[in-house]
Amino acid sequence: MRIDLHCHSTASDGTDTPAELVRGAAAAGLDVVALTDHDTTRGYAEATAALPGGLTLVTGAELSCRVDGVPMHLLAYLFDPEEPALLAERELVRDDRVPRARAMVAKLNGLGVPVTWEQVDRIAAGGSVGRPHVATALVELGVVETVSDAFTPDWLADGGRAHAPKHETDPFEAIRLVRGAGGVTVLAHPAAAKRGRTVPEETVAALASAGLDGIEVEHTDHDPAARARLRSLAADLGLLVTGSSDYHGSRKTVALGENTTDPEVYGEIVRRATGAFPVPGAGGA
Ligand code: AMP
Ligand code: FE
Ligand code: FE
Ligand code: ZN
Repeated sequence: MRIDLHCHSTASDGTDTPAELVRGAAAAGLDVVALTDHDTTRGYAEATAALPGGLTLVTGAELSCRVDGVPMHLLAYLFDPEEPALLAERELVRDDRVPRARAMVAKLNGLGVPVTWEQVDRIAAGGSVGRPHVATALVELGVVETVSDAFTPDWLADGGRAHAPKHETDPFEAIRLVRGAGGVTVLAHPAAAKRGRTVPEETVAALASAGLDGIEVEHTDHDPAARARLRSLAADLGLLVTGSSDYHGSRKTVALGENTTDPEVYGEIVRRATGAFPVPGAGGA
């Protein structure tokens, strides 16, 4: 069984539509794929409708959080997408991304970059708008060569010249909300240092005490030393260990299924969840 529990579509900052994503997952030989767009569940319906036979869809989201000033992503799986408290928080974060992206455009204009909101809005194409869309605009304008090159202090890195903050949830509150909606939580890429500061181990321990279920260990942004350290931390704290691609289509270089999750861990996630069931592919369009 090949299981990839972290993928993005055009519902946020991926470049494959939800339908393309599930077809690509089947073509990549995956048995299970999770759709985890940033702060939104809007891709579920299309992914479900297009789900190929033999592929199972795990519904989820990647929630934008911040703790003690450090940005943090929380993967949430198999929660009830209509549960009102989590839905309200998700919408608050997603909707705040629009004025935030406009603020980044304004800062870039102040730095002499002729980017427009219309350009960013066209690139985001209705998805949960984020820095990768602004970064794509900077690539189009020839300001930087790649999306990744825009994530520097000169441009869009956290606290960078053209960065603007968005609403982000306290992760203790996020865990409480996801559990309240019957979902399971996994701390995404906890050691992805190239994205900026990472949460200290004491905070991971506190999150574990607050009900965090697991940590993502096998991730393209983790070197072998980081993976070893995180595995031992997970063992100490009694946390599940996952592995995933964090696929973003052509906006990142990582391939679907590049890292995968152990079937036993997947089984435990499904067993713990009460908000939704994985969706078996019936061989849709
Ligand atoms: P946002 O949620 O709008 O703040 O944007 C965060 C997203 O930017 C992450 O989910 C990644 O997809 C992307 N990202 C963050 N750091 C980098 C980086 N160093 N290179 C490329 N993409 C990045
Ligand atoms: Fe992303
Ligand atoms: Fe992330
Ligand atoms: Zn992600």
